[in-house]
Amino acid sequence: MNRNFDVIVLGVGGMGSAACFELARRGKRVLGLEQFPLVHSQGSSHGHTRIIRTAYAEHPGYVPLVRRAFERWYELEQLTGRHLLTECPCLNVGPPNCEHVEGVRASVREHKLAAEELSASEITKRFPAFRFPADYVGILEQDAGFLLVEECVRAHIDSAVSLGAEVHGEEPVQEWKAVGDGVTVTTTKGTYHAAKLVITAGAWATRLLADLGVRLTVMRQTLLWFGVGSRAAEFRRDRFPLFIGETPHSMFYGFPAIDSSGMKIARHYSAPELPNPDGVDWNIVDADVASMRPLLDEYIPGIGAFTKGQVCMYTVSPDRHFVIDVHPAHPQVSVACGFSGHGFKFASAVGEVLADLAETGTTRHGIGMFSATRFGNAERGVRNAE
Ligand SMILES: Cc1cc2nc3c(=O)[nH]c(=O)nc-3n(C[C@H](O)[C@H](O)[C@H](O)COP(=O)(O)OP(=O)(O)OC[C@H]3O[C@@H](n4cnc5c(N)ncnc54)[C@H](O)[C@@H]3O)c2cc1C
Repeated sequence: MNRNFDVIVLGVGGMGSAACFELARRGKRVLGLEQFPLVHSQGSSHGHTRIIRTAYAEHPGYVPLVRRAFERWYELEQLTGRHLLTECPCLNVGPPNCEHVEGVRASVREHKLAAEELSASEITKRFPAFRFPADYVGILEQDAGFLLVEECVRAHIDSAVSLGAEVHGEEPVQEWKAVGDGVTVTTTKGTYHAAKLVITAGAWATRLLADLGVRLTVMRQTLLWFGVGSRAAEFRRDRFPLFIGETPHSMFYGFPAIDSSGMKIARHYSAPELPNPDGVDWNIVDADVASMRPLLDEYIPGIGAFTKGQVCMYTVSPDRHFVIDVHPAHPQVSVACGFSGHGFKFASAVGEVLADLAETGTTRHGIGMFSATRFGNAERGVRNAE
């Protein structure tokens, strides 16, 4: 059995699968190690769909990376012959001058993006299902869509394997060590050596990278589907957009109904911050559904019964921006974590960034704002898994 690799990727979810693919495409001998069966629903990359959008409310600095991500998702579709990305407009909505709407406007201005400003009455005229207060404003952008999240992870893994990568499911990493210029990684099944390590451990990065000095927290988030019954036509994706709303209740977002489960709705943030994934309750409870009702009754009244739900985790950095960098103490280790509930759309581009960092320690992509040391953390010593 081969125990020596050019690069080991620790954690094969959204980001790790993309890194495995790109590294294998560049001819590297790659080992991906995943603690759960491959393409699972116990991390952050499951729940059928993820929004991808260009007018980026969180910061204009994300726009070039999301453009690259679009290109890379389309390339992956061509390579695999699988459908992954569906274009669909995205409505950003909230009170005038609220943080989300202002954030979208900033990206539109800085990158000269095409977007349409709508009043609340124009929103209802265009999309009759919505009832936002009269003073709310909407920004509708067409350069958006949704990704089939599990299909994306599967496509990256399958492509990596077809290019020669080894990807092991059900093999938890117990410890990693920087040894000389390389790394040693110990799992429940053995010890491996590599020149480079890429850590893409999602919510478990809170432990595996504790000595990075970045305080990551975990949020339990629920994805809830509600039936649309006889109103199915109103919620089809040719009639109903993706939407992200900032409201006094909380941020929430949703998708058009794309199958018989109805429309998928979720809150953004607004959940207790946990120190690690251990405290996450993976069952949907009545309170999860009940807490969504006031939002639906107020803004999308008349939605039908709850049909199904799933729990998923956000891994949140202190400023809610990503951490993508070379480990400050170990140049042979790169990290990508803290995707703070908005990372999946970027996975195709992050795979490229991580391959660059593993190959050369740098990348042409602008990742300065994702620096691991921006929180003032100092370099630390060798860190092992707990
Ligand atoms: C409810 C919800 C909705 C979201 N909506 C959107 C959206 O619309 N658009 C968007 O862009 N983003 C969205 N996100 C965020 C996005 O899904 C995440 O940012 C992204 O999936 C994070 O990917 P990741 O690779 O960091 O984590 P994961 O996909 O969880 O991958 C980490 C992997 O590492 C493995 N691992 C950890 N420790 C070990 C170990 N010791 N040994 C082996 N394997 C290990 C884990 O099992 C896991 O598979 C959403 C997230 C959630 C939870």
